[in-house]
Amino acid sequence: MSLEERARRERSLQQAAARASACRACAIGAQRRNNVYGEGDPLADLMLVGEGPGETEDRLGRPFVGRAGELLEKMLGAIGLAREDVYIANTVKCRPTSQGERGLKNRAPDPTEMANCRPFLDEQIEIIRPRVLLALGAPAAKSFLGPTYAITKQRGRWEHGPLEIPLLVTFHPAYVLRQTGGELTAVKRLVWDDLKAVRERIDVLRASPPNAAARQVGLFEGAPVVE
Ligand code: URA
Repeated sequence: MSLEERARRERSLQQAAARASACRACAIGAQRRNNVYGEGDPLADLMLVGEGPGETEDRLGRPFVGRAGELLEKMLGAIGLAREDVYIANTVKCRPTSQGERGLKNRAPDPTEMANCRPFLDEQIEIIRPRVLLALGAPAAKSFLGPTYAITKQRGRWEHGPLEIPLLVTFHPAYVLRQTGGELTAVKRLVWDDLKAVRERIDVLRASPPNAAARQVGLFEGAPVVE
């Protein structure tokens, strides 16, 4: 795509981010430090949608920069993609918090917060128009596929996302990090299956030969390599 198109999308994303930053539809809008709109390549083939910013993301104003973000980068690396190659967003742009004993703690976004923020997410998807959407975790999956979506039973199938963009759901990297022993091995294998499916779908849609360089790294060592 042309440099003009890149510049046009960057401008649209900046304007949309400014509107999202001014939004105070939810109480968390007044509590957060930064509106974490999203970041990445505006011409990306793959757009990832997580749950919502955590403490580190809120402080830095960038999505997936904590421990879950480190794993997410390894997951992307396993299919031959760098963080800069994709676009990363969340279902909500403000950090959802509740009062813990030692100050504010992260929590999942509630349905009203997700509904309030949904127009910002839809606008982002419309600007980027990725070839493939990957929803990370149950809240992101439910925001696209409805409240009864059951990630453990239904993940791994291609769904219709907004604008009929192919949508796959996989486990959230923070969920993967919470697993141990055999469960960790089993979840990693399922995530790897999903990542391979994403890679293959992108390659087919690009109508170019499958990326022979796609391989596993780090946490994903041990599962089969994409041929
Ligand atoms: N978890 C998410 O869902 N999103 C982030 O940006 C960081 C952690």
